[in-house]
Amino acid sequence: MKTNQIYNILSQVTDPEIPVITIAELGILKDVKWDDGDKITVYITPTYNGCPAMDMITVNIKSALQEHGYDNVEVISVLEPAWTTDWITKEGRQKLLDYGISPPAEKTGDVSFLHGDSPKVQCPQCKSYHTELISRFGSTACKALYKCKDCLEPFDYFKCH
Ligand SMILES: [Zn+2]
Repeated sequence: MKTNQIYNILSQVTDPEIPVITIAELGILKDVKWDDGDKITVYITPTYNGCPAMDMITVNIKSALQEHGYDNVEVISVLEPAWTTDWITKEGRQKLLDYGISPPAEKTGDVSFLHGDSPKVQCPQCKSYHTELISRFGSTACKALYKCKDCLEPFDYFKCH
């Protein structure tokens, strides 16, 4: 089925800010529709409204499909339901960690969120939770800068949700 082929192409498209993770692993890629008029509609959910990377993702989606001969492509942003970091796949979390970015804390069972405390952030280098927030804004708006108190390495925390 052609839709599967298109989905396979799209699932190779990576995040412009974090080139090791794909938009499928981030949970951004929601749906693909192809009609007989050869028009492809791709539905994506932005990580957050106004994230500058989303324009890049739209461009990357279109050029990836163009490479395979699909020129009639529309990319639609779906804002409801809103993206959450829970949509990042297990494999995606591991890739973030391997890349040196602490993946977002999983909300399940972590009551600190209810009290407005900082999430438990794990050091991607030594896996310690003994970390502190250095800056709310890291290398991009989607990341915060943390420092590990054990190995003293600074690292990015993926915070968008
Ligand atoms: Zn560390």
